[in-house]
Amino acid sequence: RAKERGGHQSVFFDDAMGAAVARRFTIEQELRRALAADELRLYLQPQADAQGHWRAAEALVRWQHPVRGLVPPAEFVPVAEGCDLIEPLGHWVLQAACAHLGQLARAGTRLPIAVNVSPRQFHRPHFVQEVLDALRTHGAAAADLVLEVTEGVVVEDIDAVIERMLALTREGVRFSIDDFGTGYSSLSYLKRLPIQEIKIDRSFVRDAPHDPDDAALVEAIIAVADRLRLRVVAEGVETAEQAAFFGRWPHVLQQGYLHGRPDAAEAVLARWRAAQAGESAAGSGGMA
Ligand code: C2E
Ligand code: MG
Ligand code: MG
Ligand code: MG
Repeated sequence: RAKERGGHQSVFFDDAMGAAVARRFTIEQELRRALAADELRLYLQPQADAQGHWRAAEALVRWQHPVRGLVPPAEFVPVAEGCDLIEPLGHWVLQAACAHLGQLARAGTRLPIAVNVSPRQFHRPHFVQEVLDALRTHGAAAADLVLEVTEGVVVEDIDAVIERMLALTREGVRFSIDDFGTGYSSLSYLKRLPIQEIKIDRSFVRDAPHDPDDAALVEAIIAVADRLRLRVVAEGVETAEQAAFFGRWPHVLQQGYLHGRPDAAEAVLARWRAAQAGESAAGSGGMA
């Protein structure tokens, strides 16, 4: 069943274990143990420009389970979001990402990193301070940190959300709207939220080269983003055709298996540093 639902790796907690409630409880127990046992891993996936040069990377968490192997976030992030575990999990990812940003800075290079922030994490009382502390602890520049949120962060009081986002954007942190186009009030949020980037959801990217409706939606999203001076990232670019389609907008970043699958942060950043070291001053970063 888990395979059919789109998971790549092993069937993890199967439905055969019992009711959904029992399954969630088991994952919760296991995840609590995993956090203490330091089993989370930071993966990174490059965001490339139309020439294939890396401009940023997205942090994607994995769970290195001693028996079940590498577990994708779809299997545990939603469970963590439903209980208090999203807080230590989110904290861990933020710390790990900022640690890499600090290391890159000390190595004399930079590659902005985008971190996914779940609604529950965003609404923690000390979230702003948590982010600023993580940056300072690791000597990371706020301008190199992007926080990806979905429309789900806007629960009731949009003004409180805006205020909280401004507290971070004033420091130089950027916000990105993830999975754009799949929610409900996207356009009004674009107007009101202090965001700097939108990520076009993979569901539109997939068929854009063939389906005129998807192409029209993508074109409209990019046109609006351009007018609002928002950066755009196309999610899930897998084929040369999709890359060529988005190549019509050289400023639109592309993230997807074509430019690089998510891989261990150390490996991705080692490639980045090696490529930077080998570059002339004219410098291009393409290495996907
Ligand atoms: P997302 O933020 O929309 O991340 C993009 C997902 O698309 C990632 O899945 C990535 O591996 C996948 N992807 C990238 N390129 C391609 C492609 O070309 N084709 C296809 N089919 N897929 C592609 P992943 O890593 O399994 O993460 C799934 C979701 O889990 C993320 O969706 C995000 O919502 C959540 N997530 C991941 N890491 C974290 C985290 O640290 N904190 C929180 N709160 N959520 C996270
Ligand atoms: Mg994301
Ligand atoms: Mg996304
Ligand atoms: Mg998506």
